[in-house]
Amino acid sequence: MQIGVPAESMAGETRVAVTPETAKKLTAQGHTVRVQSGAGVAASVTDAAYQAAGAEITDADGAFAADIVLKVRSPSDAEAARMKPGTVVIGMLNPFDAPGLQRLASAGLTSFALEAAPRTTRAQSMDVLSSQANIAGYKAVMIAADRYQRFFPMLMTAAGTVKAARVVILGVGVAGLQAIATAKRLGAVIEASDVRPSVKEQIESLGAKFIEVSYDTDEEKEAAVGVGGYAKPMPPSWLARQQVEVAKRVALADIVISTALIPGRAAPTLISEDMVKSMKAGSVIVDIAAGKGPDGIGGNCPLSEADKTVIKHGVTLVGETNLAALVAADASALYARNVLDFLKLVITKEGTLKIDLEDDIVAACRMTQDGQVTRT
Ligand code: NAD
Repeated sequence: MQIGVPAESMAGETRVAVTPETAKKLTAQGHTVRVQSGAGVAASVTDAAYQAAGAEITDADGAFAADIVLKVRSPSDAEAARMKPGTVVIGMLNPFDAPGLQRLASAGLTSFALEAAPRTTRAQSMDVLSSQANIAGYKAVMIAADRYQRFFPMLMTAAGTVKAARVVILGVGVAGLQAIATAKRLGAVIEASDVRPSVKEQIESLGAKFIEVSYDTDEEKEAAVGVGGYAKPMPPSWLARQQVEVAKRVALADIVISTALIPGRAAPTLISEDMVKSMKAGSVIVDIAAGKGPDGIGGNCPLSEADKTVIKHGVTLVGETNLAALVAADASALYARNVLDFLKLVITKEGTLKIDLEDDIVAACRMTQDGQVTRT
């Protein structure tokens, strides 16, 4: 089959959906891989590296004219219009973006959003949320360390002792766990909060402390279990108790990394303005949920601003919304492997397209087909 790899057009998107490693595997399977010239440059991949892997370098028209188009982000209006009806598009298409899906359906595209894959063992190798959140958690700590005007580790020097940084992590999914691991490697003292008590063991195994909040009613206990591994909105009674515990830690913290999300809903508000005011001057908040809060600008903290770094009440708030794109080479390498694994589900050994809706991953990821939005 012809597989096209256009350059990403969204501002700040540096990743690419195919790397020389995956291009080599696809060409070895007999497919033609057409990469738009320059598509990998921001991810440190040259056209020559793709050619050495057996891919053809083409212009945008050549990449969009393929049977299967591999993307990082959902195609824009202009990009959707460049593809012929029936083209298969695979990428991070945002299953919650109804107008975006309608655009793909209207263009007659058959599309698969990899974020919609179930969080099962079989789907793990194509789990783009995990591969990219892992990078986001790492980069959030790197940015915090860069912005923070003190050390992370405790140091005993001839000029005196420096205290270890205190880090609070809010939301301990994939990004939060990696943030804990990264801050730990730098020598910080870490406490973490999540609505799901099942993460306590994971937090402790990484050398951090779980911020305990009791579950007092059946409603609270039931909500804390979540669904499919994801959090459900917690009752206000529990959130109020959590806020008291978190506020105490945030007031003492040097760094807060917040990652709390609930799929398909606004990110919960966990760091109020008063909590920011209680922090020491020079503290840093990296809000991975920026842009996903109730107003679409803030995140877990209403003072953060999507894609901006601002200083409020003496605290630096980093609202970078695409942290994975700041580690473009490795983010692309992992994403491209996720994509390659998904392709195995929709391309037969004989090299033809087969959309098997009996396969739970294929069915969950399919967003549009035959002019219809088919998202389940
Ligand atoms: P996510 O990005 O949806 O959310 C981040 C974290 O925020 C979650 O841990 C969530 O519980 C937490 N959160 C939500 N509301 C909160 C609040 N008010 N206060 C504090 N924390 C709050 O999560 P994710 O990283 O995508 O991970 C989701 C789940 O999927 C996890 O259970 C993870 O272990 C699981 N997972 C499973 C597999 C697999 O089995 N294949 C792979 C990856 C992840």
